[in-house]
Amino acid sequence: MSLTNYYEILGCSKESSAEDIKRAYRALALKFHPDKSRPEQDGVKFQHVLEAWQVLSNPKLREEYDATQTQEELDSESAPIYARISCNDLETMDNDENVLAYPCRCGGLYCVQKKYVEAKNQLIQVPCLECTFLIVIET
Ligand SMILES: [Zn+2]
Repeated sequence: MSLTNYYEILGCSKESSAEDIKRAYRALALKFHPDKSRPEQDGVKFQHVLEAWQVLSNPKLREEYDATQTQEELDSESAPIYARISCNDLETMDNDENVLAYPCRCGGLYCVQKKYVEAKNQLIQVPCLECTFLIVIET
């Protein structure tokens, strides 16, 4: 278990609803609450649970946290990233003006629908149609 991943600490995921997170926190809070006479180790765990809860129960903090997590995931390069590009590097497909494309070195294409890159300040991962590389588009 990573003590820096708040979702893991609470046993939740990014897809969990606010209600799921609340339920998970309550269960852990009961288990690790420092008021109950417990070994030191549990007190430490409870600190992490509390910290995770304080961030994930606040919609604004959760949003910010999710953004940093996404950045870390990109930085860890679990999938090979061929390029980081901006929207301006994308070209409109000849046969469909709603689709933008970027050429891969394998000869394949990275394709993304125009509507997905319209929101600003997003990082969008697009897999190559032919190989395992990804590109990251900064909008
Ligand atoms: Zn490719």
